[in-house]
Amino acid sequence: MRDTSQHLLFNLQQFWAEGSLEKNNALVEYLKQYGVVRTDKVAEVMETIDRALFVPEGFTPYTDSPMPIGYNATISAPHMHATCLELLKDYLQPGMHALDVGSGSGYLTACFAMMVGPEGRAVGIEHIPELVVASTENVERSAAAALMKDGSLSFHVSDGRLGWPDAAPYDAIHVGAAAPEIPRPLLEQLKPGGRMVIPVGTYSQDLQVIDKSADGSTSVRNDASVRYVPLTSRSAQLQDS
Ligand code: SAH
Repeated sequence: MRDTSQHLLFNLQQFWAEGSLEKNNALVEYLKQYGVVRTDKVAEVMETIDRALFVPEGFTPYTDSPMPIGYNATISAPHMHATCLELLKDYLQPGMHALDVGSGSGYLTACFAMMVGPEGRAVGIEHIPELVVASTENVERSAAAALMKDGSLSFHVSDGRLGWPDAAPYDAIHVGAAAPEIPRPLLEQLKPGGRMVIPVGTYSQDLQVIDKSADGSTSVRNDASVRYVPLTSRSAQLQDS
């Protein structure tokens, strides 16, 4: 009896650990019902980029929680990805420029690339070289592969607190790790009329939405209380691994 239930549990875990677009679509459907996916645009991109390609083997890609990707980093939970895509969707129109700081698994950078398309630019900055290698391999297997091949999607090993001036100014900037304060270079690289979404704080953090108006002035509002890994130096991040 015990053996059978353990066997069943193992099979269930196996089932949810395997990638399939059907299960990915079921996750997006769940996020719609939960109210975090609110627009067709966001649903469409999350359906196109299969999350299983970005979650390490052995972990369940379609459950709504963050998963470890090594080096004290995590792929964010699906509801956080959806929240950020909803907040940024108007700034991810075809031809626009997007910066993803702390790109980790590469999932969100791939979504950005699909939205801005081949005429746009999606740049992922990550300070752990091994994660840049992994994210590149993940994207190669995904629907965004052609965009990386043609150069409209790129990953770079660098300190994201400095931004990436080469493709600035950006219509959309997303920061996937919590900063004690908003790094100045990121504010400077945000286009007038653009939007940045960034978790700010140390222990308690707020997801802040920063809008830069045409005259260059900025407004800030808190969208939600969140819990992200810190935006820090590589040595500090790897210290307690
Ligand atoms: N959006 C990513 C989140 C990854 S977790 C995803 O869903 O996969 C946050 C990432 O920020 C980690 O990969 C971490 O290595 C990276 N990070 C932290 N500080 C950084 C810095 N100063 N520069 C670049 N990347 C940084």
